[in-house]
Amino acid sequence: MITLNNNFHLLPESYLFSIVRQRLDAYRQNHPEDEIIRMDIGDVTRPIAPAAVAAMHAAVDELARTESFHGYGPEQGYLFLREAIADYDYRRLGIAITPDEIFISDGAKSDLGNLGELFSHRARVAVPDPGYPVYADDNIIDGRNRTDAPIIHLPLTPENHFVPPTPDRTPDLIYLCYPNNPTGASISRHDLSRWVDYARRVGAVIIYDSAYEAYIRDASLPHSIYEIEGAEEVAIEVRSFSKTGGFTGIRCGYTVVPHALKGCYADGTVAELHRLWMRRQSTKFNGASYISQRGAAALYTPEGRRQVEESIDYYMENARLLREGMAAAGYEAFGGENAPYVWVRTPDGMTSWEFFDHLLERYQLSSTPGAGFGTNGEGFVRLTAFNTRSNTLAALRRLRD
Ligand SMILES: *Cc1c(COP(=O)(O)O)cnc(C)c1O
Repeated sequence: MITLNNNFHLLPESYLFSIVRQRLDAYRQNHPEDEIIRMDIGDVTRPIAPAAVAAMHAAVDELARTESFHGYGPEQGYLFLREAIADYDYRRLGIAITPDEIFISDGAKSDLGNLGELFSHRARVAVPDPGYPVYADDNIIDGRNRTDAPIIHLPLTPENHFVPPTPDRTPDLIYLCYPNNPTGASISRHDLSRWVDYARRVGAVIIYDSAYEAYIRDASLPHSIYEIEGAEEVAIEVRSFSKTGGFTGIRCGYTVVPHALKGCYADGTVAELHRLWMRRQSTKFNGASYISQRGAAALYTPEGRRQVEESIDYYMENARLLREGMAAAGYEAFGGENAPYVWVRTPDGMTSWEFFDHLLERYQLSSTPGAGFGTNGEGFVRLTAFNTRSNTLAALRRLRD
């Protein structure tokens, strides 16, 4: 029989969200009359921004006619979208990222999972704990969780305001995510500068996941890592239209790999990471669909921006209600001010799964157990603001009654 990639054997067995689903299914079977309010899902609930819907309809019609048909597009993505991104997401903030440094993808998760291919199998990796499971799992699949150099877990705790200190063991590759999933925390300009300076000093690369950038309310917080001086020499930024335009089912995101970001091969030859990523994408990816890219570009029109803002306002009002409601019900709640998640400490020393069961059995509320995001997530659950207003209010009423 063929020998398999043994690293899959080393991956944690079951995926967090499927265990949650199994427990909910079991509860429903035993209590078919109960109505569970889902507070666990990290998926948007509002439909796609109308400007994007119209643009995608028009794109389909273009593809339906010989004169305007498009086949394969550029692997890096269409220039109309890369220009809109460079203009609105960067130039507007005084950041000199060019369209050429932007790569359109079918979503942030693919890029976060694929970027590991740019680095040596011996690279030492640091991931946030708790964190989005892809960061660690991709590196386990790539063989970077070795006994002699295990993955470094950066602790996100209430004590450090969910911004970890730089580690004792020096990593080569660092994953950071702000505004943060799952803790709902944000990072200050000062703390982000500290990480950029650290990466510059030790020669590490930061993969900065800013999927929730559009949820930032506090005007003093950085939207992009490239707002920090020198970051273009040490950072890759990954973004998504999933949580802004409601694109979780459409699939479109982008990754910025600046020309200034360099590394070296085993023989010492220096190369731009941009070159490697371009080569990687043109070898293994044929581009995001024309339709989704037309849809994404429409999110940058004045109309599209207004609609995105309106959706985010809606979710952030849910986040505020959740955060304040949980506090009023006697729980210690974090986040929810610049991110659509509220991170709740379990009461009375319960484990995350015990509290998950308690919320489900007593109030018919589902949550995501923090332990599923890493060791430091133990003792917390994540509640989502991705919900209807009426469900959010109903959930809080149940907790009060
Ligand atoms: C939702 C999310 C993404 C976006 O993933 P897509 O593949 O673009 O849908 C990326 N990172 C984090 C932390 C997320 O929560």
